[in-house]
Amino acid sequence: MNLILLGPPGSGKGTQSKILVKNLGLVQLSTGDMLREAVKSGSVIGQKVAKIMDAGELVTDEIINSLIREKLAERNSGFIFDGYPRTLNQADSLEAQLARAGARVDMVIELLVDVDQLIERIVGRLSCVSCGAMFHKTYQPPTIEGICDVCGGDLMQRKDDNEESFRTRLLEYYQKTAPLTGYYHRAGILKHVSSIGSIEEISERIEATIQAG
Ligand code: AMP
Repeated sequence: MNLILLGPPGSGKGTQSKILVKNLGLVQLSTGDMLREAVKSGSVIGQKVAKIMDAGELVTDEIINSLIREKLAERNSGFIFDGYPRTLNQADSLEAQLARAGARVDMVIELLVDVDQLIERIVGRLSCVSCGAMFHKTYQPPTIEGICDVCGGDLMQRKDDNEESFRTRLLEYYQKTAPLTGYYHRAGILKHVSSIGSIEEISERIEATIQAG
């Protein structure tokens, strides 16, 4: 099975992907995480994308499609795509690459949110530099400030989790990514899940949607 989680920044794609990895044995493929790794390692790609990411703009399709190509060379099924595809060009590229391997996107789940709540979710967000576990300053604070409950690593705020970058990311989402709902609706594989409520409630809804096919 290949699953795409679609939704604006802060809608819970990363958090829910990690739960699905644990419960369903899928592999999370987050282009955002891959790009942040590239920035951290100082690679050529990392140097090209750092400023674009900090500003909240989209990285070029060319870079993204090449990152994905490498991953799909290793395997072609069992993925949760998190934050990818984000443009129609990326969706076409994904479809073509999977088709070549005899695979496809089986389901796309759009996480529905209250846009007014997103900013609060985003600016309080913290993630562990070691294991990627997510926390929130107000809604899910770690037991010890700045320290990950899961692995003891340091908690950091993403550079683009500020109000200005968030506004740009939201605009990019509505202009370039939201049209994908039409694309996948037409393919007959689009589902909707409310991303309002507790993390557990949302993950139960997602799993029920997957089971129902
Ligand atoms: P995310 O972690 O998914 O919120 O992504 C963080 C940032 O990485 C985005 O704001 C973009 O700058 C870049 N990015 C991640 N995935 C993509 C993608 N599929 N296409 C273009 N840019 C991306």
